[in-house]
Amino acid sequence: MASVELASISKSFGAVDVIRDLSLSVEDGSFCALLGPSGCGKSTLLRMIAGLERVSGGSVRIGSRDVTHAEPKSRGVAMVFQSYALYPHLTVAQNIAFSLSLAGRPRAEQRAAAERVARLLQLDHLLDRRPAELSGGQRQRVAIGRALVREPQVFLFDEPLSNLDALLRVQMRIELAKLHNEIGTTMIYVTHDQVEAMTLADRIVVLDRGRIQQVGSPLELYNHPANRFVAGFIGSPG
Ligand code: ADP
Ligand code: MG
Repeated sequence: MASVELASISKSFGAVDVIRDLSLSVEDGSFCALLGPSGCGKSTLLRMIAGLERVSGGSVRIGSRDVTHAEPKSRGVAMVFQSYALYPHLTVAQNIAFSLSLAGRPRAEQRAAAERVARLLQLDHLLDRRPAELSGGQRQRVAIGRALVREPQVFLFDEPLSNLDALLRVQMRIELAKLHNEIGTTMIYVTHDQVEAMTLADRIVVLDRGRIQQVGSPLELYNHPANRFVAGFIGSPG
């Protein structure tokens, strides 16, 4: 079953075509990386799935619903960005549960949800700290927790680790893979880093200038790159 289905979507900003007639089907429960160089349209594509950007043409389905014209909030997606802003005056627990507090859920329920999410992300011992008392990796985990608590149907990540140092990036990659194994939610992960895509994803979509160059497993792309661009970008001998 497809979790996200893009049918012939396009996006132009003025006269500039950023996404051109792109179709893609993301399987339910898969970890899909959108990989390509800076400026190729990855964020624009993700933002159209999230509903933060309108499509110029085509349609977007999430689960069984056509969400092409639906509000971001009603799409069942949660997005994690590279530059995440936590609320400095709120604790980790309150930051994680923020969407529940906005929705007017009882405090005990908010706390219980924050505790459950914190366990998944190894933040249990930090629930009562404030963001200023956390490391960069811990803050990024809180940002992921904030998305997790909403129990989305699909997670959208936009280069979430690129502000972290190299070692932390590797650790967080392992944790994201673990998280995906545990919760099984569909993840769509934008990155320009081929190593990140190769280690995290079960399917990689290679983009260049707003067009899909190839879709396949890491091994398929490595062993059988469809063209020179993919070969060069993946770093395979082909
Ligand atoms: P990526 O995330 O792959 O680096 P983006 O999706 O951010 O690429 O951008 C793709 C192209 O679209 C770039 O050329 C960028 O300048 C352009 N672009 C993105 N957003 C806008 C916007 N709001 N207005 C005009 N041009 C935009
Ligand atoms: Mg981007």
